[in-house]
Amino acid sequence: MSRHALVIGAGLAGAAVCAQLARRGWRITLLEAADGPARGASALPVGMLSPHVTRAPTPLSRLSALGVDTTRGELQRLLPQGQGWQACEVDNLGHDQGRWPAALVRPGALVHAWLDEAGPALQARWRTPVHGLARTGDQAWQALDATGSVLAQAPVLVVAAAFDSLALLTTGEGLLPQAHLPLRPVKGQMSLAALDGEALADRPRRDNGVFVPRYDDSGLPPAWPARIWAMGSTYTRGDASTHLSDEAHAANASSLQALCPPAAERMRQTQARGALLGWAQVRCASLDRLPLVGAAVDTVALNDELARARGRHGRIALEDMPRLPGLHLCTAFGSRGITLAPLCAALLAARLEEDASPLEPDLVRALDPARFAWRQARRQVQVR
Ligand SMILES: Cc1cc2nc3c(=O)[nH]c(=O)nc-3n(C[C@H](O)[C@H](O)[C@H](O)COP(=O)(O)OP(=O)(O)OC[C@H]3O[C@@H](n4cnc5c(N)ncnc54)[C@H](O)[C@@H]3O)c2cc1C
Repeated sequence: MSRHALVIGAGLAGAAVCAQLARRGWRITLLEAADGPARGASALPVGMLSPHVTRAPTPLSRLSALGVDTTRGELQRLLPQGQGWQACEVDNLGHDQGRWPAALVRPGALVHAWLDEAGPALQARWRTPVHGLARTGDQAWQALDATGSVLAQAPVLVVAAAFDSLALLTTGEGLLPQAHLPLRPVKGQMSLAALDGEALADRPRRDNGVFVPRYDDSGLPPAWPARIWAMGSTYTRGDASTHLSDEAHAANASSLQALCPPAAERMRQTQARGALLGWAQVRCASLDRLPLVGAAVDTVALNDELARARGRHGRIALEDMPRLPGLHLCTAFGSRGITLAPLCAALLAARLEEDASPLEPDLVRALDPARFAWRQARRQVQVR
């Protein structure tokens, strides 16, 4: 197979995949609707890299422990502290109480660094929205524009378009039924402001949202001050809008009041003098809150197989679900793209190369995009 991949979406997910494939000698064509990289959820001014701690291990707690190490390694390798990230600790005040090692991260810095590192192996095309997907007779995948013209094609296609992945894969001729791709938008708004002087607390705190008492980043886009404090973010399921609202600022103020009352007072004063800033974007979350990473199900072949399995009272294992050759997903990172995208991109690249998996088999299964179709199939036939 030719080592040429088409990647749709230049956020954390798509850029992490580009970086992994370029390192392995692949050629990549990256198509992005916006006028540059990290313009969607990955434009987040500052987010938290930290483990998801639970009393007993869960797939998410295990993935996030591995993911923290992977992302931290990428940050240390590519970016000086103060130019896109800062190591810190976080005080968890709600569940999982305690102080945990963490880092404050501006995802856009990592996205830019990965794309720069890919060098000439990567051809990035901005302002190039993909409206549809098609497969040619010789098994190449094509990305189509609004008129149906071919934008680019390659034997491997990675859809990393966050919530828009749903429309890309299910509308028109519809490669997948919506039920096999249960994604939903979750709007989040962060409240922030310029920080003149001392940090608003010793270290970040988290319960209902994350309070960042000080973040310095000389690389923050010109729209933002170079030193900020931030509180966020709200969590509105089913909302794909990106406008700022006073209600969301009020919700952040109330969460901040519980975390750090003096900072909440500072937020109210800042808002009263019109200096409170906000940032809102849409996360993409799956039904079980885990990302979708791997090969897409071939629905037509699955239906045929189910009919045969039903006749035989057979079984279908998740690993044996039929796949659309060359079509892969890397999406649904919810609130954890910083923690999970680099790890998941490494998994996807290893699978494309048929290399040893960086994850235990049960974690690969937990991320498998075929799991929803498989759960449905399980209701129809006996599967293991
Ligand atoms: C308010 C808020 C706070 C957050 N806080 C944290 C945090 O503290 N820690 C953490 O780990 N994560 C956090 N996240 C989540 C994190 O930002 C996301 O998980 C991550 O950025 C998702 O990356 P992505 O590449 O999947 O999506 P995106 O960054 O949204 O990228 C998708 C890209 O695909 C492009 N695209 C879409 N459709 C098409 C198309 N048809 N054709 C071409 N291009 C297309 C879009 O333009 C976009 O650039 C937060 C998110 C929000 C909104």
